[in-house]
Amino acid sequence: MRYVFQPPPQAALPIAGSDLLFPVHRIYCIGRNYGEHAREMGHNPEREPPFFFQKNPDNLRVDGKFPYPPGSSEVHFEIELVVALSSGGKNISREDALNHVYGYAVGLDMTRRDLQGKAKKAGRPWEVGKAFEHSAPCSRLYAAAAIGHPVNGQIWLDVNGERRQSASLNQMIWDVADQISTISALFELAPGDLIMTGTPAGVGATVIGDKLHGHIDGVGDLFVEVI
Ligand code: MN
Repeated sequence: MRYVFQPPPQAALPIAGSDLLFPVHRIYCIGRNYGEHAREMGHNPEREPPFFFQKNPDNLRVDGKFPYPPGSSEVHFEIELVVALSSGGKNISREDALNHVYGYAVGLDMTRRDLQGKAKKAGRPWEVGKAFEHSAPCSRLYAAAAIGHPVNGQIWLDVNGERRQSASLNQMIWDVADQISTISALFELAPGDLIMTGTPAGVGATVIGDKLHGHIDGVGDLFVEVI
């Protein structure tokens, strides 16, 4: 059997130090996973169990460009550690969780904050704020076999050379193993799944021409220009 039209290209991340590509299946994102960011968004981090939303695999952008999206005048940056899974399953235990990790990347959860805010207020879904084209700029993927599992490094974002977000990875409310375990109790995780692990405080609006530089100790860097 043939398809009625050419299937879309497989979403993928380049792998550092290799000419291989990591094929992407789904993108899960955790909300409010650093206490100070939860507070800046008007929530009490101590009282809330983790919750997740998704971006689309074809929202990834790996060429260092972020085209400013339509329909919004308040597009925020959110720097995040990205986890890439090489195997999946259901009901993965915390203890076993990191055995499913292929590697890590530096990503941005770009957000149409004005549209997300309206959706929240109306009790509507978040896709319009979170899952639009090019909304997931991402670095190359670094294999855990080469870099290990980052837990204590600094994560930061500079905008036009000015530090805007900064925290330690150990300030996550739910760590990577918690996130894998929790998601796998609700969905069947699969090889190729990515998890965006939440953003520190300091999120803010971008404008065309901004130059974003994200960094995670022990992982790498992400350079993105808003066009
Ligand atoms: Mn986020």
